[in-house]
Amino acid sequence: MREVRVRFAPSPTGALHLGGVRTALFNYLFARKHNGKFILRIEDTDQTRFVPGAEEYIIKSLAWIGLDIDESDIVGGEYGPYKQSNRKHLYTKYAQQLVNDGFAYYAFDTPEDLEVMRKDLEAKKSSIQSYGPATRMSMKNSLTLGEEKTKQLLDENVPYVIRFKMPENEKLVLKDIIRGEIKADTSLLDDKVLYKSDGMPTYHLANIVDDHLMKISHVIRGEEWLPSLPLHYLLYRSFGWLDTMPEFAHLPLILKPDGKGKLSKRDGDRLGFPVFPLHWEDPKTGEVSKGYEEAGYFPEAFLNMMALLGWNPGNNSTQEIFTKEELCKIFTLENVHKAGSKFDPEKNKWFNKQYLELKPNEELAEYFIEDAKKDGVTVDKAKAAKLCGLVKDRCHFSHDLWKESKYFFVAPTEYNEANKKKFWKPESEDLMNKSIEILKQTEDFSSKNLENIFTDWINNNQLSFGKVLNPMRLLLAGECKGPHIFDILEELGKEESIRRIETGIKNI
Ligand code: GLU
Repeated sequence: MREVRVRFAPSPTGALHLGGVRTALFNYLFARKHNGKFILRIEDTDQTRFVPGAEEYIIKSLAWIGLDIDESDIVGGEYGPYKQSNRKHLYTKYAQQLVNDGFAYYAFDTPEDLEVMRKDLEAKKSSIQSYGPATRMSMKNSLTLGEEKTKQLLDENVPYVIRFKMPENEKLVLKDIIRGEIKADTSLLDDKVLYKSDGMPTYHLANIVDDHLMKISHVIRGEEWLPSLPLHYLLYRSFGWLDTMPEFAHLPLILKPDGKGKLSKRDGDRLGFPVFPLHWEDPKTGEVSKGYEEAGYFPEAFLNMMALLGWNPGNNSTQEIFTKEELCKIFTLENVHKAGSKFDPEKNKWFNKQYLELKPNEELAEYFIEDAKKDGVTVDKAKAAKLCGLVKDRCHFSHDLWKESKYFFVAPTEYNEANKKKFWKPESEDLMNKSIEILKQTEDFSSKNLENIFTDWINNNQLSFGKVLNPMRLLLAGECKGPHIFDILEELGKEESIRRIETGIKNI
């Protein structure tokens, strides 16, 4: 295989969405698997869609996920600049070359001319709706005007575009690594604009020229670009670059969690999950969107869940937890599916939970201490780590650790209504008063000892565990959830436990 050089080529038109993240990730994994290069190229030729801050956001997001870049304007590289607006000087010559070789032509049609063409085709109910082989000869371009008139218009600085001259009636059979053969009929394609007289190339021209100059070996991108593949192939052919043309792989769509169609930002808003990796504030609308980072996802978990959107390890393996390093070893484009991949927000939470459970309590303690601080509570590391150990199997996110433990520091002032209805019975007050007596007499307040003492008492008096321990838990924590109740008692200590039960009896 030739040296693997792949690029992630986002346009800075907004926050990086999940489809973009997945494209970046698969490019990265492919590069690492083949000891190749992962390149970041910013495709900002469409200045009308430029959004300030978007480029920085993309770079920050890739860093958060842990996708280190081998070549870009920031890290450098032999093939820079890596931002298309800084490569403007390069494209003119290539557009010119296509015109000179008869593969492209100048078109001087005004927006009004194009509108007339569109209306005319509509009135004729033509199956062709665009500027292309069937319509170009009735338009204002260098093919119909002739060389002299064209030169005159160019000299007069009449605005123009350069269009690709789509061959008529050619049947193409192209190759996609994921999808196999892709057939296309050029008579159904149009003469795309490649270059505008303001000196800016369009996406198609810039993309092909840059992939060629940057020696890109594989183009891995979203399915929405599949319809452009025939044009891209024809551009390589017209330039005489077929021998070094990259291989193509078009990734499947990420689908809505419910219903059909592509996952959109609206689905996230509607169903309450983030669609961007990091916090994003839209500079135009001021709309603020929470990212996976703020939602409490660990970058490793986020990377893991994204990797499985459209890829699996094959061989009927059911493994779902993969480190980045592991993925870099086993990722193949052959194991990417053709079919769209349903986005599953619940499963994503599960992924995060797996990573949370694997993390050492000392590491989780850092999050715990930070969140406690926000509530004005100072906790030392050893205690934070111990509590993380107690509550972590109930948590999906780092923020849950403090939420689930807050009652260890702050006595409840309210009691969960539903729990109260279910567990606070006429005999509860008496049982709690008796429990207070037992607690008062207990010297060794370790979880184990407390468990032995209460077990004996409950058994010897034909009481049930639920009848004693549920109301006790309610008074200690404000609701009936949390770790083992004797661990809670030990953690709170004798004095505080008794105080909470006494206060609870009065206030509930
Ligand atoms: N700039 C294009 C995008 O934003 C890149 C498409 C490609 O990878 O060729 O999706």
